[in-house]
Amino acid sequence: MESDSIDCMAFSDVIDDDDDDDGSHHHQLPSLSKTHSNSTVSSAVHRSTTGVHELLECPVCTNSMYPPIHQCHNGHTLCSTCKTRVHNRCPTCRQELGDIRCLALEKVAESLELPCKFMSLGCPEIFPYYSKLKHEALCNFRPYNCPYAGSECAAVGDIPFLVAHLRDDHKVDMHTGCTFNHRYVKSNPQEVENATWMLTVFHCFGQYFCLHFEAFQLGIAPVYMAFLRFMGDEIEARNYSYSLEVGGNGRKLIWEGTPRSIRDSHRKVRDSHDGLIIQRNMALFFSGGDRKELKLRVTGRIWKEQQNHEGGACIPNLCS
Ligand SMILES: [Zn+2]
Ligand SMILES: [Zn+2]
Ligand SMILES: [Zn+2]
Ligand SMILES: [Zn+2]
Repeated sequence: MESDSIDCMAFSDVIDDDDDDDGSHHHQLPSLSKTHSNSTVSSAVHRSTTGVHELLECPVCTNSMYPPIHQCHNGHTLCSTCKTRVHNRCPTCRQELGDIRCLALEKVAESLELPCKFMSLGCPEIFPYYSKLKHEALCNFRPYNCPYAGSECAAVGDIPFLVAHLRDDHKVDMHTGCTFNHRYVKSNPQEVENATWMLTVFHCFGQYFCLHFEAFQLGIAPVYMAFLRFMGDEIEARNYSYSLEVGGNGRKLIWEGTPRSIRDSHRKVRDSHDGLIIQRNMALFFSGGDRKELKLRVTGRIWKEQQNHEGGACIPNLCS
Protein backbone atom coordinates (compact mmCIF):
# COMPACT_ATOMS: atom_id res chain seq x y z
CA MET A 1 0.00 0.00 0.00
CA GLU A 2 2.97 2.23 0.56
CA SER A 3 5.11 0.99 -2.23
CA ASP A 4 3.55 3.20 -4.89
CA SER A 5 4.52 6.49 -3.35
CA ILE A 6 8.01 5.92 -2.08
CA ASP A 7 9.74 6.86 -5.31
CA CYS A 8 10.97 10.32 -6.08
CA MET A 9 8.14 12.52 -7.18
CA ALA A 10 10.11 14.96 -9.21
CA PHE A 11 7.23 16.42 -11.12
CA SER A 12 8.28 20.01 -10.83
CA ASP A 13 11.89 20.02 -11.79
CA VAL A 14 13.05 23.35 -13.02
CA ILE A 15 16.54 23.15 -14.29
CA ASP A 16 18.07 26.57 -14.78
CA ASP A 17 20.97 26.55 -17.09
CA ASP A 18 23.80 28.34 -15.46
CA ASP A 19 26.32 30.32 -17.42
CA ASP A 20 29.27 28.33 -16.27
CA ASP A 21 27.69 25.06 -17.28
CA ASP A 22 28.96 23.80 -20.59
CA GLY A 23 25.45 23.01 -21.76
CA SER A 24 26.41 19.56 -22.93
CA HIS A 25 24.22 16.54 -22.45
CA HIS A 26 24.96 13.50 -20.47
CA HIS A 27 25.84 11.34 -23.42
CA GLN A 28 29.06 13.28 -23.56
CA LEU A 29 31.07 11.27 -21.15
CA PRO A 30 34.17 12.64 -19.50
CA SER A 31 37.22 10.91 -20.83
CA LEU A 32 39.23 8.85 -18.42
CA SER A 33 42.78 10.04 -18.31
CA LYS A 34 44.24 6.73 -19.30
CA THR A 35 47.97 6.56 -19.53
CA HIS A 36 49.12 4.09 -22.09
CA SER A 37 52.73 5.12 -22.25
CA ASN A 38 53.89 2.44 -19.87
CA SER A 39 51.75 -0.40 -21.18
CA THR A 40 54.48 -1.81 -23.39
CA VAL A 41 56.81 -2.01 -20.43
CA SER A 42 54.04 -3.45 -18.26
CA SER A 43 53.16 -6.21 -20.67
CA ALA A 44 56.81 -7.10 -21.13
CA VAL A 45 57.23 -7.38 -17.38
CA HIS A 46 54.00 -9.30 -17.24
CA ARG A 47 55.03 -11.80 -19.89
CA SER A 48 58.35 -12.61 -18.33
CA THR A 49 56.88 -13.17 -14.89
CA THR A 50 53.70 -15.02 -15.78
CA GLY A 51 55.29 -18.40 -15.01
CA VAL A 52 56.47 -17.35 -11.57
CA HIS A 53 53.22 -15.54 -11.02
CA GLU A 54 51.35 -18.81 -11.57
CA LEU A 55 53.61 -20.49 -9.01
CA LEU A 56 52.54 -17.85 -6.53
CA GLU A 57 48.89 -18.63 -7.03
CA CYS A 58 47.58 -20.86 -4.24
CA PRO A 59 46.44 -24.11 -5.93
CA VAL A 60 43.59 -24.41 -3.41
CA CYS A 61 41.97 -20.94 -3.33
CA THR A 62 43.78 -19.44 -6.38
CA ASN A 63 44.58 -16.24 -4.48
CA SER A 64 48.08 -14.80 -4.59
CA MET A 65 50.20 -16.22 -1.78
CA TYR A 66 52.00 -14.05 0.76
CA PRO A 67 54.41 -15.13 3.49
CA PRO A 68 54.32 -17.48 5.21
CA ILE A 69 53.92 -19.70 2.14
CA HIS A 70 53.67 -23.39 3.11
CA GLN A 71 54.52 -26.63 1.36
CA CYS A 72 54.10 -30.36 1.98
CA HIS A 73 56.92 -32.97 2.05
CA ASN A 74 56.44 -33.45 -1.69
CA GLY A 75 56.78 -29.74 -2.42
CA HIS A 76 53.13 -28.81 -3.06
CA THR A 77 52.53 -25.25 -1.97
CA LEU A 78 49.54 -23.57 -0.40
CA CYS A 79 48.69 -20.27 1.28
CA SER A 80 48.54 -19.75 5.01
CA THR A 81 44.77 -19.25 5.00
CA CYS A 82 44.22 -22.57 3.25
CA LYS A 83 46.75 -24.32 5.53
CA THR A 84 44.54 -23.67 8.54
CA ARG A 85 41.56 -25.17 6.71
CA VAL A 86 42.93 -28.45 5.34
CA HIS A 87 43.40 -30.32 8.67
CA ASN A 88 47.08 -31.01 8.11
CA ARG A 89 46.54 -32.91 4.82
CA CYS A 90 48.09 -31.65 1.60
CA PRO A 91 45.13 -30.93 -0.71
CA THR A 92 47.19 -32.03 -3.71
CA CYS A 93 48.74 -35.37 -2.61
CA ARG A 94 46.75 -36.05 0.60
CA GLN A 95 50.00 -36.62 2.54
CA GLU A 96 50.47 -35.21 6.01
CA LEU A 97 51.26 -31.51 5.64
CA GLY A 98 53.54 -30.79 8.59
CA ASP A 99 54.87 -27.31 9.12
CA ILE A 100 57.27 -26.56 6.30
CA ARG A 101 57.71 -23.07 5.08
CA CYS A 102 58.64 -22.44 1.45
CA LEU A 103 61.28 -19.76 1.91
CA ALA A 104 62.58 -20.04 -1.64
CA LEU A 105 59.23 -19.12 -3.14
CA GLU A 106 58.83 -16.26 -0.67
CA LYS A 107 62.22 -14.93 -1.78
CA VAL A 108 61.31 -15.26 -5.45
CA ALA A 109 58.10 -13.35 -4.78
CA GLU A 110 60.10 -10.61 -3.12
CA SER A 111 62.13 -10.06 -6.27
CA LEU A 112 59.07 -9.84 -8.53
CA GLU A 113 57.67 -6.65 -9.95
CA LEU A 114 54.19 -6.75 -11.37
CA PRO A 115 51.82 -4.27 -12.96
CA CYS A 116 48.84 -3.11 -10.94
CA LYS A 117 45.85 -5.35 -11.62
CA PHE A 118 43.94 -2.29 -12.89
CA MET A 119 46.43 -1.86 -15.71
CA SER A 120 43.66 -2.40 -18.28
CA LEU A 121 41.71 0.45 -16.65
CA GLY A 122 44.63 2.80 -17.12
CA CYS A 123 46.94 2.36 -14.13
CA PRO A 124 50.54 2.57 -15.37
CA GLU A 125 52.17 1.54 -12.07
CA ILE A 126 54.44 -1.43 -11.47
CA PHE A 127 54.99 -2.70 -7.95
CA PRO A 128 57.08 -5.13 -5.97
CA TYR A 129 54.94 -8.18 -5.33
CA TYR A 130 54.47 -7.51 -1.64
CA SER A 131 53.35 -3.89 -1.95
CA LYS A 132 51.10 -4.44 -4.96
CA LEU A 133 48.13 -5.45 -2.84
CA LYS A 134 48.36 -2.31 -0.73
CA HIS A 135 48.42 -0.12 -3.83
CA GLU A 136 45.52 -1.94 -5.47
CA ALA A 137 43.26 -1.32 -2.47
CA LEU A 138 43.74 2.43 -3.02
CA CYS A 139 44.53 2.58 -6.74
CA ASN A 140 42.85 5.56 -8.40
CA PHE A 141 41.96 3.37 -11.35
CA ARG A 142 40.13 0.75 -9.30
CA PRO A 143 36.49 0.49 -10.37
CA TYR A 144 33.77 2.34 -8.48
CA ASN A 145 30.78 0.66 -6.88
CA CYS A 146 27.35 1.57 -8.17
CA PRO A 147 26.19 4.64 -6.19
CA TYR A 148 22.53 3.67 -6.32
CA ALA A 149 21.21 3.50 -2.78
CA GLY A 150 17.75 1.99 -3.16
CA SER A 151 18.94 -1.61 -3.21
CA GLU A 152 22.10 -3.62 -3.09
CA CYS A 153 23.72 -3.45 -6.50
CA ALA A 154 26.86 -5.33 -7.44
CA ALA A 155 27.70 -3.31 -10.54
CA VAL A 156 31.25 -1.90 -10.62
CA GLY A 157 33.05 0.08 -13.27
CA ASP A 158 34.42 3.42 -14.31
CA ILE A 159 32.29 6.58 -14.22
CA PRO A 160 31.06 6.49 -17.85
CA PHE A 161 29.97 2.89 -17.33
CA LEU A 162 28.16 3.70 -14.08
CA VAL A 163 26.41 6.73 -15.57
CA ALA A 164 25.01 4.55 -18.35
CA HIS A 165 24.15 1.86 -15.80
CA LEU A 166 22.26 4.32 -13.56
CA ARG A 167 20.33 5.65 -16.53
CA ASP A 168 19.54 2.33 -18.21
CA ASP A 169 19.25 -0.14 -15.33
CA HIS A 170 18.09 1.99 -12.40
CA LYS A 171 16.15 4.47 -14.56
CA VAL A 172 17.38 7.40 -12.50
CA ASP A 173 16.56 10.98 -13.44
CA MET A 174 19.41 12.58 -15.33
CA HIS A 175 19.71 16.35 -15.47
CA THR A 176 22.13 18.66 -17.15
CA GLY A 177 22.89 21.86 -15.31
CA CYS A 178 24.24 22.93 -11.98
CA THR A 179 21.13 24.36 -10.37
CA PHE A 180 18.12 22.31 -9.47
CA ASN A 181 14.70 22.47 -7.91
CA HIS A 182 13.37 19.18 -6.79
CA ARG A 183 10.20 18.13 -5.07
CA TYR A 184 10.01 15.18 -2.68
CA VAL A 185 6.52 14.01 -1.85
CA LYS A 186 5.33 11.28 0.46
CA SER A 187 1.88 10.55 1.80
CA ASN A 188 1.57 9.37 5.42
CA PRO A 189 5.11 10.44 6.30
CA GLN A 190 4.49 9.59 9.97
CA GLU A 191 4.58 5.91 9.07
CA VAL A 192 7.95 6.05 7.36
CA GLU A 193 11.02 5.20 9.42
CA ASN A 194 13.43 4.39 6.64
CA ALA A 195 13.06 5.31 3.02
CA THR A 196 15.31 6.07 0.12
CA TRP A 197 13.99 8.24 -2.64
CA MET A 198 15.04 7.81 -6.23
CA LEU A 199 18.51 9.10 -6.90
CA THR A 200 18.96 12.06 -9.24
CA VAL A 201 22.10 12.50 -11.29
CA PHE A 202 23.33 15.96 -12.31
CA HIS A 203 25.78 16.57 -15.09
CA CYS A 204 27.71 19.81 -14.94
CA PHE A 205 31.31 20.98 -15.32
CA GLY A 206 31.86 17.75 -17.26
CA GLN A 207 31.28 15.78 -14.04
CA TYR A 208 28.45 13.78 -12.51
CA PHE A 209 26.85 14.29 -9.11
CA CYS A 210 24.28 12.15 -7.27
CA LEU A 211 21.59 13.81 -5.17
CA HIS A 212 20.36 11.55 -2.37
CA PHE A 213 17.26 12.03 -0.27
CA GLU A 214 16.27 9.68 2.51
CA ALA A 215 14.33 9.26 5.72
CA PHE A 216 15.86 7.62 8.77
CA GLN A 217 15.99 7.70 12.56
CA LEU A 218 18.64 9.97 14.02
CA GLY A 219 18.71 8.77 17.62
CA ILE A 220 15.04 8.93 18.52
CA ALA A 221 14.22 11.67 16.04
CA PRO A 222 12.86 10.86 12.59
CA VAL A 223 14.70 13.01 10.06
CA TYR A 224 15.08 13.56 6.35
CA MET A 225 18.46 14.06 4.83
CA ALA A 226 19.62 15.37 1.46
CA PHE A 227 23.21 15.25 0.30
CA LEU A 228 25.32 15.22 -2.83
CA ARG A 229 27.97 12.72 -3.87
CA PHE A 230 30.58 13.26 -6.55
CA MET A 231 31.12 10.55 -9.15
CA GLY A 232 34.90 10.46 -8.91
CA ASP A 233 37.67 10.46 -6.35
CA GLU A 234 37.71 12.48 -3.17
CA ILE A 235 40.62 14.64 -4.26
CA GLU A 236 38.58 15.83 -7.23
CA ALA A 237 35.39 16.16 -5.21
CA ARG A 238 37.11 18.87 -3.19
CA ASN A 239 37.11 21.12 -6.26
CA TYR A 240 33.33 21.46 -5.97
CA SER A 241 30.86 22.85 -3.49
CA TYR A 242 27.11 22.67 -3.31
CA SER A 243 24.25 24.24 -1.46
CA LEU A 244 20.82 22.87 -0.61
CA GLU A 245 17.87 24.89 0.53
CA VAL A 246 14.54 23.82 1.88
CA GLY A 247 11.82 25.88 3.48
CA GLY A 248 8.24 27.04 3.68
CA ASN A 249 5.97 29.10 5.87
CA GLY A 250 8.55 31.85 6.06
CA ARG A 251 11.39 29.65 7.36
CA LYS A 252 14.36 28.25 5.52
CA LEU A 253 17.21 25.82 6.12
CA ILE A 254 20.39 26.11 4.07
CA TRP A 255 23.21 23.62 3.81
CA GLU A 256 26.52 24.28 2.16
CA GLY A 257 29.12 21.60 1.78
CA THR A 258 31.59 19.68 -0.33
CA PRO A 259 30.20 16.70 -2.20
CA ARG A 260 31.50 13.38 -0.93
CA SER A 261 33.11 10.94 -3.31
CA ILE A 262 31.10 7.87 -4.25
CA ARG A 263 34.12 5.96 -2.88
CA ASP A 264 32.32 6.64 0.42
CA SER A 265 29.12 4.61 0.59
CA HIS A 266 25.88 6.55 0.86
CA ARG A 267 25.44 4.86 4.24
CA LYS A 268 28.77 6.22 5.46
CA VAL A 269 27.89 9.74 4.33
CA ARG A 270 24.48 9.46 5.96
CA ASP A 271 25.95 8.23 9.23
CA SER A 272 28.43 11.10 9.30
CA HIS A 273 25.48 13.55 8.91
CA ASP A 274 27.36 15.30 6.12
CA GLY A 275 24.36 16.93 4.49
CA LEU A 276 21.13 18.83 4.97
CA ILE A 277 19.24 17.25 7.85
CA ILE A 278 15.61 18.20 8.41
CA GLN A 279 13.70 17.08 11.50
CA ARG A 280 10.44 15.47 10.47
CA ASN A 281 8.39 18.02 12.41
CA MET A 282 10.16 20.84 10.64
CA ALA A 283 9.76 19.08 7.28
CA LEU A 284 6.01 18.75 7.87
CA PHE A 285 5.87 22.39 8.91
CA PHE A 286 7.61 23.32 5.64
CA SER A 287 5.10 21.13 3.79
CA GLY A 288 2.20 23.19 5.16
CA GLY A 289 -1.26 21.69 5.17
CA ASP A 290 -2.41 19.11 7.67
CA ARG A 291 0.82 17.12 8.27
CA LYS A 292 -0.67 14.23 6.29
CA GLU A 293 1.69 14.70 3.40
CA LEU A 294 5.36 15.50 3.04
CA LYS A 295 5.92 18.04 0.29
CA LEU A 296 9.45 19.35 0.31
CA ARG A 297 10.96 21.54 -2.33
CA VAL A 298 14.72 21.22 -2.28
CA THR A 299 16.62 23.71 -4.38
CA GLY A 300 20.32 23.53 -4.87
CA ARG A 301 23.36 24.62 -6.74
CA ILE A 302 26.73 23.09 -7.54
CA TRP A 303 29.73 25.26 -8.23
CA LYS A 304 33.40 24.89 -8.86
CA GLU A 305 35.75 26.21 -6.21
CA GLN A 306 38.44 28.67 -7.17
CA GLN A 307 41.71 26.84 -7.41
CA ASN A 308 43.97 28.26 -4.75
CA HIS A 309 47.49 27.41 -5.79
CA GLU A 310 49.10 29.40 -3.03
CA GLY A 311 47.64 27.11 -0.41
CA GLY A 312 47.12 28.02 3.22
CA ALA A 313 44.08 30.18 2.57
CA CYS A 314 43.59 32.58 5.41
CA ILE A 315 40.09 33.03 6.71
CA PRO A 316 39.68 36.54 8.16
CA ASN A 317 38.89 36.54 11.90
CA LEU A 318 40.35 33.08 12.33
CA CYS A 319 43.91 34.11 11.69
CA SER A 320 45.62 35.71 14.62
ZN1 LIG B 1 44.89 -20.70 -0.50
ZN1 LIG C 1 51.49 -32.58 -1.30
ZN1 LIG D 1 46.95 0.86 -9.77
ZN1 LIG E 1 23.54 -0.31 -9.83
